[in-house]
Amino acid sequence: MSGREPAAEVADGVYCVGVGRGVLASNVYLIRSGGSWALIDAAWPGRGELIKAAAESVFGEGTRPASMLLTHIHPDHSGSARELARIWDLPVWVHAGEMPLAARTYRPEYGNPLDRWLVVPLMRVLPRRTVDAMTSAASLAGVARPLDPVGPPPGLPDWRWVAAPGHTPGHVAFFRARDRVLIAGDAVLTVNLNSVPGLLRGGPGAWGPPRYTTWNWPLAKESVAALARLEPRVLAGGHGRPMTGAGTAACLHALAEKLCGATGAAGRGVQRHPAASRRTRAASGEED
Ligand SMILES: [Zn+2]
Repeated sequence: MSGREPAAEVADGVYCVGVGRGVLASNVYLIRSGGSWALIDAAWPGRGELIKAAAESVFGEGTRPASMLLTHIHPDHSGSARELARIWDLPVWVHAGEMPLAARTYRPEYGNPLDRWLVVPLMRVLPRRTVDAMTSAASLAGVARPLDPVGPPPGLPDWRWVAAPGHTPGHVAFFRARDRVLIAGDAVLTVNLNSVPGLLRGGPGAWGPPRYTTWNWPLAKESVAALARLEPRVLAGGHGRPMTGAGTAACLHALAEKLCGATGAAGRGVQRHPAASRRTRAASGEED
């Protein structure tokens, strides 16, 4: 565990479980909804029993969620999804845009910088058997199902899913309007994974997605602005301690402004202006 409480309640019925340490830490969320609960994200592979135990510490022994949802398919968020799907005999819900990634076979059109620089070259030199074993262990084929494009996420009737593409093609966030709770996955983080000093210093603050595992950076920046416009009061990302309080939305707007130049309706156009890009790059120290 990361040194945090095994399951910390960050909003009414929303529990954050920090799984792993340092750069290998990622957050899993357990969400109470009515008489049942749902799981959002599933950490790295091999953490199924740990997540099950955390859920039982909150909801009681032998508990089983109404649904399992993923913000996106990356090994630090979907790693134990197959194991948990087997333990609880449940499908795993992802955005339709994420379905091509479910089989975990490499698709060049969905590749991110880390895939291109490290994963693909490594796959080329590893024995075929090893690659096949790694791929099938991580595969969610036959387990992943696409979210309803209009309805609420399964098991969370009081929430809605919000498209937040860029980090991956079908990345989603989850939002509860009643108290403005945002589960942001890797679309927005409360720890800076793009800088070693930032990582060591920790929060509080809001940062963009991890750069080297982000598929489409311009889209990822647009998604930060879109999430800021939700005016969240609780920002619970895939990494870092969740942020709460009156300044949360302002912090997210500041990040969006740094990345895009504006967060209002005009923001989507402004970010493409070359001068604005240069200015925001200089302000943020980004290496865009
Ligand atoms: Zn990710």
